[in-house]
Amino acid sequence: MGPGANRMRLMEDTRESALREEFRAFFAEHCAPEYADECDARGRFPEELYRAAGQAGLLGACLPAEHGGRGEDATALAILFSEAGRAFPDFANLIVRQHLCATVLERFGSPEQRAELLPRFARGGIHMAFGASERGAGSDVTALATTARRDGGEYVVDGEKLYATGAHVADAVLVFAREPGTSGREGICALVVWSGNPGMRAERLDTLGVRATGTAMVTLTAARVPADARVGGDGEGWRVLRSGLDMERLATAAIATGASRFLLDRTIGYLNERRQFGRPLSGLQAVRHRLADLAMRTDAAELATMAVAHGLATGAPVHLDASVAKLAATETYMAVAHQAVQLEGGHGYTKDSVVQRHYRDAKMYEIGGGASDVQRDIIARGLGL
Ligand SMILES: Cc1cc2nc3c(=O)[nH]c(=O)nc-3n(C[C@H](O)[C@H](O)[C@H](O)COP(=O)(O)OP(=O)(O)OC[C@H]3O[C@@H](n4cnc5c(N)ncnc54)[C@H](O)[C@@H]3O)c2cc1C
Repeated sequence: MGPGANRMRLMEDTRESALREEFRAFFAEHCAPEYADECDARGRFPEELYRAAGQAGLLGACLPAEHGGRGEDATALAILFSEAGRAFPDFANLIVRQHLCATVLERFGSPEQRAELLPRFARGGIHMAFGASERGAGSDVTALATTARRDGGEYVVDGEKLYATGAHVADAVLVFAREPGTSGREGICALVVWSGNPGMRAERLDTLGVRATGTAMVTLTAARVPADARVGGDGEGWRVLRSGLDMERLATAAIATGASRFLLDRTIGYLNERRQFGRPLSGLQAVRHRLADLAMRTDAAELATMAVAHGLATGAPVHLDASVAKLAATETYMAVAHQAVQLEGGHGYTKDSVVQRHYRDAKMYEIGGGASDVQRDIIARGLGL
C-alpha cells in the first residue's frame, strides 16, 4: 500500500509498536508466503511453524509469567493475531484455539490441571483442540447432545463433535458434553480427553479453506475419562464454554484485519505493475475507488478491533463491540479477498497466486466463531431490537 498504509498504526504506543515489530519479524522468519502456500496446497500441518511459535511463547502468550507465559494483555494479543493473520490466517486460527483452551484452563482448571497443563500451553508443549460444535449444535451450541455419564471415578462420554480445528493432530480435545437428561445451558461440562483414549477418534474433514491446520469430526464411543479431567465445577459448564468468546471474536477480527492489510498491500503493488490499455491498471478510476473503499473498511475494522482490545485490557464490557469488530473485520476480509482475486484476473485464479488461498480462507472467518448473522443478531439485541 502507498504512503498512507500504516497511518492507523499511529494509535500504537512504543510498547505496541515494538510488539508488532517482534511478531512481524517472527512470521517473516518462520512463515514465508511460499511456506503457507505449500502447507495449504498439500494439506500439511505446519509442524515447524507450530514448534517455533511454541518456543517463542506465542501459543500461550496470554498466560501469566507464573505459568511460564508472556502475560500479554488483549492489546498485545490483538497485535499478535493481526500479524499472524497477515502472514497465515489458517495458522492464526489454530493459535486462537490454543489461547481459548489455555484461557479456559487458567480460569476454571483445578490447581493440578493448571500446574500440569499451563506451562505446556505457554511453550507449545501441548496442542489442544476445542470441541463445542456438533451436527445439531452450531450457532445454537446449547443444543449440544454429547453425553458424559458419571460412572464411579470416571465419565463415560458418547457423541460426535464437528469442525474441531486441528483435532486430528492434537494431543487432546477439550470436549463439551452434558449430563444425560439435561438440556439448554444446564448440565454442560468440559472434559480434557487425550488423543490416546481408545474411545475417541478424530477424522479430518475435507474443506474449502484452512487446509493446512484442517478441521475434524471427533467421535466419542463409550470413551472413559477420569473424573478429574473435568474443567470447572458443578453447573459451571456453560460459563466455561462462554468464557473465551469475547477474546475469540477479538482474535478473529484482528486476524481478518491483518489479512486484509496484507491483501491490500499486495493488490496495490500488483496493480501498479500490471499494464493494460497502455497504462497501469491502478490508474483506472473504477479500480482506484474500489480500493479506496476497501482501505476505508479495513481502517474502520481495525479501529473497532483495537477499541475492543483496549476495552478487554482495561476490564470494560466488550461483548457487543466484539461482535461489531468481528462482523466488520471478517466481512471486510471477504470483500478484500474477493476483489484481490478479481483485480489479479486470471493470475489471481491460479494456484500460483496467494490471493486464491485468502479467498478460500476468508469464508471460514465469516462462519467460525459465530456466523455473521449471529453477530448481527447480537448487535440488533444491543440496539434494543
Ligand atoms: C473451518 C471451521 C473450523 C471450526 N473450528 C471449530 C472449533 O475448533 N471448535 C468448535 O467448537 N467449532 C468450530 N467450528 C464450528 C463453527 O463455530 C460453526 O460452524 C458456527 O458456529 C456455525 O454453526 P453451523 O456451521 O452449525 O451453522 P448453522 O448454525 O447451521 O448456521 C448456518 C447459517 O444459518 C444462519 N444463521 C444461524 N443462526 C442464525 C441466527 N440466529 N440469525 C440469522 N441467521 C442465522 C447463518 O447464515 C449461518 O451461517 C468451525 C467451523 C469451521 C467451518
